[in-house]
Amino acid sequence: MDYDAIIVGGSFAGLSAAIQLARARRRILLVDAGRPRNRFSEASHGFLGQDGAAPADIMREGLRQLSAYPSVDFFNGTAEAAETQGQGVRAELSDGVQAWGRRIILATGVADELPLESMKARWGVSVLHCPYCHGYEVRDRPIAAIANHPGAVHQALMLPDWGPTTYFTQGVFEPNEEEAAQLARRGVRIERVPVVELLGEGAATRALRLADGREVAAQAVFTAPTTRVASPLASQLGCTFADGMTGPHILVDGIQQTSVERVFAAGDAAQPMHNATLASAAGVMAGVSAHRSLVTEEASAS
Ligand SMILES: Cc1cc2nc3c(=O)[nH]c(=O)nc-3n(C[C@H](O)[C@H](O)[C@H](O)COP(=O)(O)OP(=O)(O)OC[C@H]3O[C@@H](n4cnc5c(N)ncnc54)[C@H](O)[C@@H]3O)c2cc1C
Repeated sequence: MDYDAIIVGGSFAGLSAAIQLARARRRILLVDAGRPRNRFSEASHGFLGQDGAAPADIMREGLRQLSAYPSVDFFNGTAEAAETQGQGVRAELSDGVQAWGRRIILATGVADELPLESMKARWGVSVLHCPYCHGYEVRDRPIAAIANHPGAVHQALMLPDWGPTTYFTQGVFEPNEEEAAQLARRGVRIERVPVVELLGEGAATRALRLADGREVAAQAVFTAPTTRVASPLASQLGCTFADGMTGPHILVDGIQQTSVERVFAAGDAAQPMHNATLASAAGVMAGVSAHRSLVTEEASAS
């Protein structure tokens, strides 16, 4: 199977890249394992025209619209491996089939590692990473900001816009003098005894248990999980990575070109700030850039 481009990941970034190439009438293969990062949330917010829509509904509609273009093939499964081959990239799919593309776009997203076990069942419901995505829905409730990296204090500074906030240092991420003063001016309480467990029915949170046995009321918990690029393909292809606040991401230039020729990347996997609109915009850029590079190659071929 030979394509102009293989796109790995069929969520916000991948679908946005795919539709640009499909509209340019290029032959493409969209490979998607169907595990978008926001699948734990019932509703997605802040996405133009889709505020409050279920993530699965947004994806279904994107896929339906892309399916109208005849030059697109779909594979529901995983791209297991990739390597540069000739003037393109060969990808091995989970059914054993090998696909070859003149270009590849990596839109695989990231995987989240939460700092506490009891956060997992609450992820996307009462344990949240982004106040712009879900803060409005928990407005005026007691909010806990549980630190998981050195930048956590900046998230805690924002949160009083949504509700009364306590910043939990976890005994590790102590604010410096200036930060402590900023937190105080914003009305954020600081708690230094680590949270060891979240309490509440099902996916809800009602309180936090601290290491000294105390219970502190909290109905929404914000934290920043550690992230890793969800697939080894970029490493296999030799792409360079950059360090972001929560984990590494694939390094790209302003047109989503990675450090490896013919390999583009977009979305959460290739940027430090994670948001559906930003992922979609980067996907558009990756699709257009991949198309332009095909055109340039064809125009300059002898
Ligand atoms: C709980 C939660 C709620 C969120 N809510 C919001 C919100 O309300 N608003 C907002 O703007 N943002 C929200 N976000 C952020 C948003 O989900 C991400 O920014 C967005 O999903 C990134 O899109 P993406 O296309 O880069 O990656 P993803 O959406 O994560 O999609 C990546 C896709 O690639 C597939 N994939 C990975 N590796 C392979 C492989 N090797 N082969 C085949 N397929 C592969 C995955 O299965 C997945 O389908 C939320 C995030 C979380 C964690």
